[in-house]
Amino acid sequence: MVNERAYALGSKRSAIRELFEYAKKRGEEIGEENVFDFSLGNPSVPAPKEVNVEICRLVNEMPSVALHGYTSAQGDKGVRDTIAQNLSARFGCEMDGDLLYMTCGAAASLTIALHALTVEKGDEFLVFAPYFPEYKVFVEGAGAKLTVLSPDENLQPDVEALKKALNPRVRGIIVNSPNNPSGVVYTPEILSEMAGVLQEASKKFGAPIYWISDEPYRELVYDKATKVVFAPSIYEDTLVCYSYSKALSLPGERIGYVAVSPKCQEAAAVYAAVCGAGRQLGYVCAPALFQRVAAACDGLTGDLSVYQKNRDLLYGGLTKLGFTCVYPDGAFYLFVKSPELSSAAFCEKAKGRELLLVAGDDFGAEGYVRVAYCVDTARIERAMPAFEKLAKEYGLKA
Ligand code: PLP
Repeated sequence: MVNERAYALGSKRSAIRELFEYAKKRGEEIGEENVFDFSLGNPSVPAPKEVNVEICRLVNEMPSVALHGYTSAQGDKGVRDTIAQNLSARFGCEMDGDLLYMTCGAAASLTIALHALTVEKGDEFLVFAPYFPEYKVFVEGAGAKLTVLSPDENLQPDVEALKKALNPRVRGIIVNSPNNPSGVVYTPEILSEMAGVLQEASKKFGAPIYWISDEPYRELVYDKATKVVFAPSIYEDTLVCYSYSKALSLPGERIGYVAVSPKCQEAAAVYAAVCGAGRQLGYVCAPALFQRVAAACDGLTGDLSVYQKNRDLLYGGLTKLGFTCVYPDGAFYLFVKSPELSSAAFCEKAKGRELLLVAGDDFGAEGYVRVAYCVDTARIERAMPAFEKLAKEYGLKA
């Protein structure tokens, strides 16, 4: 006998992982260069050179036992203070190393935050579609329920939908901007409006509604005019769930943090619950070497001009072929409207042309497909004739 829920999760891969595995198999059959895999959000640019420099420095200069030993459960004090000081300086909003908890990436940050904030069975967390599918797994794993809200026509949060969804069981809202899968960056105006609504509701229900800001793509924006709001600067009861997976191209190293805003009404209690949740989930401490690398390289990124070029090539190319795409201000995903009702059927047709795209259904957005453009630019160039044939098959016109 095994745990039913764990068994169900473990015996079925996510649609994205399924496609990624298919791509590897198909590559062996027809040659990797003939498979246009746009399934996974695995960064394609190398980590900035400072990462390797710092790893070498630490390995050569720091005593091995100290370098590889356990750190405090919440992370090395110097690391936490450095990151908090950087955040305060970058965003003009005071953060505190003693309220920051180092984690194994954003997935761990989210599970820890959700476990820390779930009070009882039946508690609810809200999210706007489209959303990262693992949220449902994480929220339900914490014993709560995920309620998905419809966005507006630009895939921005619909504040009216938020107002209608609020009730005393709502513990928090997960906000992911720049967004996976749409690439949309939520506007400062809409986010401020949301903050006002949540503040009022918190007052009305007599308990804070937490803003869980999932920010693995914070630095991945391509136009000067695009402003990514730092949530603690507009809302008090905020937990920032950050990851170095995308900005530093380190997804396999599992490093990130949860930062509780010092302005939280119950900041000390929330932080204690974060530490407790990390303990309960068995994290012990985040990887010691990469805590130090993260602190030294915090704020740096890989070469984002590659993603920008890929975005422009793909967005420009597909819209020219007649596809309707959401303009992606950030992250490294393009969200394309399916030219037929069923996005799954569209993905199957694309697969027939060796184009591996992910149907939007799992992201809570039927009728769209996600194209991950964190790939070699050459793959996009090679894929264009296949996209062109697909557009012709649907009779699309520019
Ligand atoms: N949140 C979002 C929106 C993501 O896209 C991802 C990964 O793709 C994660 C969280 C998890 O990131 P990490 O690899 O840091 O755990």
